[in-house]
Amino acid sequence: MLTKAPRGTKDVIPAEVYKWQYIEKVIKDLCDIFGYKEIRTPEFEHTELFQRGVGDSTDIVQKEMYSFKDKGDRNITLKPEGTSPVVRAFIENKLYADAQPTKMYYITPAFRYERPQAGRLRIHHQFGVEVFGSQHPSVDAEVISIAMTLYEKLSIKNLELHINSVGCPKCREKYNKLLREFLAIKLPSLCSTCNDRYETNPMRILDCKVENCQKELQDAPLMIDYLCEDCKSHFELLQNYLKELNIDFIVDPKIVRGLDYYTKTAFEIISTEIGAKGTVCGGGRYDGLIQEVGGPETPGIGFGMGIERLLLSLENQNIDIPSSKGFDLFIATLGQEADKKAFEIVYNLRKSDIKAEKDYMERSLKAQLKYANKINAHYVVILGQEEIENNKAVLKNMRLGEQQEINLLTIDETLKGLLR
Ligand code: ATP
Ligand code: MG
Repeated sequence: MLTKAPRGTKDVIPAEVYKWQYIEKVIKDLCDIFGYKEIRTPEFEHTELFQRGVGDSTDIVQKEMYSFKDKGDRNITLKPEGTSPVVRAFIENKLYADAQPTKMYYITPAFRYERPQAGRLRIHHQFGVEVFGSQHPSVDAEVISIAMTLYEKLSIKNLELHINSVGCPKCREKYNKLLREFLAIKLPSLCSTCNDRYETNPMRILDCKVENCQKELQDAPLMIDYLCEDCKSHFELLQNYLKELNIDFIVDPKIVRGLDYYTKTAFEIISTEIGAKGTVCGGGRYDGLIQEVGGPETPGIGFGMGIERLLLSLENQNIDIPSSKGFDLFIATLGQEADKKAFEIVYNLRKSDIKAEKDYMERSLKAQLKYANKINAHYVVILGQEEIENNKAVLKNMRLGEQQEINLLTIDETLKGLLR
């Protein structure tokens, strides 16, 4: 137990962390260009927030949350997703009082008690964006375009964008009535989860992954055929905006988010490679959510994208991620006095932004040079008694095999010139 991390969690070891750092940097630069500012919210919230914000009838709230009572007897939940905390922060910090829209992004851990497998963890990480304050369909298209541009920048291929409209409470009322009529006769042949959802959330039944249920539901009425004028024209405009950007999409009437506060646009980006866990990004509009959580009536839209699944796609497609460059200089030493001198030089070089390193293991000279190779040192200097006395040493370029004599007192200037 002591040396094994909890099931469904994963370390990112130093040799692998460059992948995360690279993706995070691409995300941050992209969001900056699109005008989205980062928001950071706490790792845990009051359980009630997720019951409201994600919805009591969802898998997340019913089965997957890490909830506990803290020592002050409060009901606390580790955040299972990013949207509800951002909504809470938007209201609490009165961000609605600023000029709208409010465009935000986050990179956050998400905690879900699920059965771990490839692409499904108990702590995963999500990149998400949220735009509050505008109903305009160009915002929906912009949000989708951020996800698509990120995949493009990372050269990830074999993705499909599926879009749908789930209407609004007004058109859904009529539709739900029709859907319940259709489902009533089917109930005996549907699974128990579907039966549970019949009263609370009939639309979610369409989302059931059980094969037999899918067969039974083939001819179910679809929301998209019952949209009101407002929802219909919003969906048409979204499609026009996407076409304007040359973003391909598939209208997929089976994408559902059955809660009242989800409105209009719903979308998923699906990898045609990673199979059942193929949804790499999911999002949509939720014009009723901010009010549901206690804020002023404010429209919103966003998505959540799993970073682990992004990494899986990169791996599957053998896409190289630039790794860190190694060291600028390694100082090999002979004897204690040289070690002291190297320690001082290395420190001063680091202060001048030169990535310098020395030996800490009392290795032989031969072993130090081998180590310098291993850590990919661009230049190597060997320091002995003579070098210290004369302030002169030989600087070797490990990549070209060339060497030159240098003055130790001006080594920072020399290196800066060479590295430029
Ligand atoms: P799924 O259908 O795969 O369970 P979901 O509908 O629960 O996904 P969302 O809540 O929309 O997913 O989360 C957004 C994204 O986060 C997903 O598209 C996926 O990339 C990622 N994700 C969700 N759950 C996990 C998990 N347990 N492990 C790794 N990534 C996950
Ligand atoms: Mg899930």
